Amino acid sequence: MTVTAERSGRFGAYGGRYVPETLMTSLIELEAAFEAAWKDNTFRTELASTLADFVGRPTPLYAALRLGRDWGGQLFLKREDLTHTGAHKINNAVGQALLARRMGKRRIVAETGAGQHGVATAAACARLGLQCRVYMGALDCERQRPNVERMKLLGAEVFSCEGGTRNLKVAINEAIRDWVSGPDETYYLLGSAVGPHPYPTIVRELQSVIGIEAREQFTRREGRLPDAVIACVGGGSNAIGIFAPFLDDPVALFGVEAGGDSPEHGSCTLAHGRPGVLHGAMSYVLQDADGQITGTHSIAPGLDYPGVGPQHSALKDSGRVTYAIETDETALSAFHELSRVEGILPALESSHALAFARRYLGENPGRRVIVNLSGRGDKDLPSIMARTKGQAALEGGHHAR
Ligand SMILES: *Cc1c(COP(=O)(O)O)cnc(C)c1O
Repeated sequence: MTVTAERSGRFGAYGGRYVPETLMTSLIELEAAFEAAWKDNTFRTELASTLADFVGRPTPLYAALRLGRDWGGQLFLKREDLTHTGAHKINNAVGQALLARRMGKRRIVAETGAGQHGVATAAACARLGLQCRVYMGALDCERQRPNVERMKLLGAEVFSCEGGTRNLKVAINEAIRDWVSGPDETYYLLGSAVGPHPYPTIVRELQSVIGIEAREQFTRREGRLPDAVIACVGGGSNAIGIFAPFLDDPVALFGVEAGGDSPEHGSCTLAHGRPGVLHGAMSYVLQDADGQITGTHSIAPGLDYPGVGPQHSALKDSGRVTYAIETDETALSAFHELSRVEGILPALESSHALAFARRYLGENPGRRVIVNLSGRGDKDLPSIMARTKGQAALEGGHHAR
């Protein structure tokens, strides 16, 4: 995480800007604008007050004593599920929306898969009086109808994209096409620590508030550092946000990818991908022998992405962060345990991090770990209920036999 790496937009071999010439000027302008804003007390003060009063920060660091005891150690949850709109994505959305306004751009475009980033962006734009258009694959619009309605209620225009597999990929293409056609008025608000430089750095800095708070809260309470910090990894924004302030500490860091229905499948970009260029940056990418992007699957929609942030790619190679896999099944069982034992319904994405914490404490009894509880699980009720019913039907079948 040296300054030189950031100046060139590189994290080791990863990162950079692999974009059409027309976007290069906009990215350079964005880089300069962010650097200036980040040094400017007026901007930082407005961001801090927005995070406090609109987002609801600081979020608590909750000691999950009962579940920790069951699992054999001490479990602390960083409660991003308690933020406005219910996930960490709002930290980034309000920060970039403030930056866009400062740059004089009144029109925001974003793309969203499951809709969480779209909702966070729509809320941030409404708050600042910015025009907002969200691109979403037509299939995702059908699957995530309540989020589409939320975005519309928040005043955003939702653009349903046909073409391709009618999911995130086509939405990204359409959002970029929109941005290229009018980069002077339009700000492209990216939702994870991915994409061309400077986005991975901007998103990390905006999400680092999670780790800064967690580190301070933990040391104040326990008088020492935690043994481990654990977060799920889709594009990697909640993970890099909580890891960043711990990178120079003697603390074990674990990123957890989604294994889908078996550890060989799923969306494990760091475990099964190879370096390549996706969405404007070099990173690990899930691709076949011909370099075609391969399909991913996870029960957690926010983890269903064939790329991963460039900094995570470098942290994997350097060994500073260990990346692990949890499956749909282990994540679901962790979801149910947290719900019943602590009274908290976690997002299915966050449940992957919890499942790994259970494994880690089982192997390392007595340790103290922080899990980034990136979001709340209400959005996942339909898929959880479908699974639970399927399970009941299966068990019913066994009984009948
Ligand atoms: C989107 C999302 C994720 C995954 O995104 P990252 O950029 O990897 O953090 C994780 N958890 C929740 C609740 C999400 O909405």
